[in-house]
Amino acid sequence: MRKYTIYLLVINILILVLLTWMGNQRYRDFKAYHISIAQESTASSAQAISSFIAEKKRLVALFVNEHKDQISQYMQDPEDDALYERLYSAIANYFPHFFTFTVADAAGIPVREDFEGYVGDLCKVDLKKFAEHDKQLPRIHPNNAVYHFDILAPLPAELQSGTLFISFHADILGRVLHNAQALGHQLLLIEPTANLIEVTVDGARIKWERDDYRLSTDEKNRILYVSKVDNTAWDAVDLYLPGLLADFRNTLVLYSSLIFMLFLLASFIFYMIVRREERLRIAAERNKDEFLAVVSHDLRTPITAIRGSVELINSGCLGETNEQMNECLTIASNNCQRISLLINDLLDLQKIEAGKMTFNIERQNLHSLVSQCIENNKAYAEEHKASFALQNPKDDIAVNVDASRFEQALSNLLSNAVKYGAKQDKVLISIEHSGGYACVKITDHGPGIPLSDQPRVFSRFAQLDSVSNTKLKGTGLGLSIVQTLIEKQGGRVGFVSIEGQGSTFYIELPIA
Ligand code: ADP
Repeated sequence: MRKYTIYLLVINILILVLLTWMGNQRYRDFKAYHISIAQESTASSAQAISSFIAEKKRLVALFVNEHKDQISQYMQDPEDDALYERLYSAIANYFPHFFTFTVADAAGIPVREDFEGYVGDLCKVDLKKFAEHDKQLPRIHPNNAVYHFDILAPLPAELQSGTLFISFHADILGRVLHNAQALGHQLLLIEPTANLIEVTVDGARIKWERDDYRLSTDEKNRILYVSKVDNTAWDAVDLYLPGLLADFRNTLVLYSSLIFMLFLLASFIFYMIVRREERLRIAAERNKDEFLAVVSHDLRTPITAIRGSVELINSGCLGETNEQMNECLTIASNNCQRISLLINDLLDLQKIEAGKMTFNIERQNLHSLVSQCIENNKAYAEEHKASFALQNPKDDIAVNVDASRFEQALSNLLSNAVKYGAKQDKVLISIEHSGGYACVKITDHGPGIPLSDQPRVFSRFAQLDSVSNTKLKGTGLGLSIVQTLIEKQGGRVGFVSIEGQGSTFYIELPIA
């Protein structure tokens, strides 16, 4: 049961680790996908704005060329309102998003005072710079009424040089961003040196309620991609909306938790089933043990009594018996012996399975143990007209074993050699040692075990057909018990058998 609990625990931990890993992987993929979207939308909006500005510059220059005379007249008399109005209408007709204009002289100073204050200080700075370096990077100019950006074009020398300055509503840039902005994203046009938000999809800065138009730390952390807008002072920036990644993560956590819960539930059900089965198995085992114990103990005594009585009659002590009676009495005696053997084997098996078989391991002289055991089984061999021969009795090898358990195992092999050996067989016993192991070999000259039967020899209740016609039937449990007894003492049991020539069973034990 503990084994199953540990398995289930390990499986559930592995599933948890796997789900977490898969979740992280999916989260990373999701973010990478949105970074690629951000890359695409910032690049396309930056490209669109850059082309838009370039086009405006081209058109302002074209306008200057087409309206030279009108601009020249206006420059000669800038305070003439009629001339101003005419030029204003011409520009308004030419440029749909026009907001205001001014004309500056060669030094970059507006030729007419702007009474409305639309051309603010920043514009004047840009005009001066343009007059000096002929360069202009458009930027958004804050104005109480309208946020705007300016496009400047130089006036030709024939107009005594100077600059035409046209301002446009900045909202138009917001529309460009709007077309490129993806769901869950926010596209901004920022002025990067001050991290100032200039335009959003809603329009220029004032269209968007907030106290501070610089990017906050949180906004900076949410930036997915930045693309420079060529020929301007701006960057196009894409940030993810706060919900985008958090929602995806929450969904992932929810699904992973659900899957994990399902596994937990399945594990729990499995655990309950196994526990129930285990309980049933233990109960069945207990019943079997109790049954075996009762049967064995209750059978052993009467069988011993019956056998004793039968042998007593058979010995002739109680009076003459005829040959027919003797035959029946021998059959009865043999079967009593077989039942006793079976009972002993079953009791041993039960003890082994219940883990109740104890081993009193002590250093023993192997030759003494083997000789003693041969002595104890001599009568059995003689009974079956067989004999034992210990081949190298002088070797002195010590092993750590439980003497009685070892004798039980060896006796079984000796009696098997007698049972399954040749008629009047001389069973050879030898003790050898090599590589730190002692080996006791028992060789008979019986019919041997066919190759096809050999894998089953140590199985419980294995009684091979090929040797079933022997004088004494066993239980088929002996070798299985021998194997367990020897392995529990750190040894090994095996055999070599050649059909028609005999078998050699051996016990190997580590030398003490
Ligand atoms: P059993 O009580 O029947 O002797 P074992 O477990 O001792 O049971 O042996 C299992 C089977 O292995 C035997 O029934 C027999 O067929 C075969 N066997 C065991 N020892 C020998 C041997 N020395 N020679 C040939 N066959 C053997």
